[in-house]
Amino acid sequence: MRQQIAAANWKMNLTWEQGQQLLKGILDANVTPKQNQAVIIAVPFPYLTAAKEIVEKKAGYFVAAQNCYHKKSGAFTGEVSAEMLKSIGVKYVIIGHSERREYFNETNQQLADKLNLLLENGIVPVFCCGEPLAVREANEQNSYVEQQLVESLFHLTPEQISGIVIAYEPIWAIGTGKTATADQAQEIQAYLRSVLAGKYGKEVAAKIPVLYGGSVKAANAKEIFSNEDVDGGLVGGASLQADEFVKIIEGLK
Ligand code: PGA
Repeated sequence: MRQQIAAANWKMNLTWEQGQQLLKGILDANVTPKQNQAVIIAVPFPYLTAAKEIVEKKAGYFVAAQNCYHKKSGAFTGEVSAEMLKSIGVKYVIIGHSERREYFNETNQQLADKLNLLLENGIVPVFCCGEPLAVREANEQNSYVEQQLVESLFHLTPEQISGIVIAYEPIWAIGTGKTATADQAQEIQAYLRSVLAGKYGKEVAAKIPVLYGGSVKAANAKEIFSNEDVDGGLVGGASLQADEFVKIIEGLK
């Protein structure tokens, strides 16, 4: 079975004191991931090292960064490179979140560069994709998201793409309380897997975890994750409450 992942995305929330309390709440619940499962908690950059000490004591739990820069190193004040993240032992990095694409004008090409740098450094990229509301209303979501995959991922070798995680996050469902229905998530995620299979073959495509993100919470996680092509979730708001996130972890297949 493909890896199943519950990923928390704290975004720009919580002081370190609040963050520690949240981590304690999550870890005290003592949910042990199955062999095929992982729990990933994406914290703000300043917390990475300290959070790692706490989180990665527990098997199957990892911290992640929420972004990295698309250049290797140099005079880019305020930015953080893939190599720096590797040097502190970070194993997962989210890239291409719709908030990064929208507010920081990240392009598919820059994301392709970030992927290369992360893979060169042995870090698993969690690549986010997803359509805005107008595209969904025009029923053009499949081709829109396909284009994101083609432009950011399709230069990778089969070995490289086997080492990434994809998170499908319809923008209209992020932080809005409006979730895609389990059927909508399954439908597009099966389509994305077929796009990957078209380029890399069925065997490679079958190995790549595809998460769903957008208003996942304790009450809907299990149903959404039960779909064949939904391999867990990337969770924003509900990941800021320990009891909610713990139930989401428990909802994994
Ligand atoms: P949300 O955010 O769960 O608050 O909708 C998801 C995300 O942005 O990753």
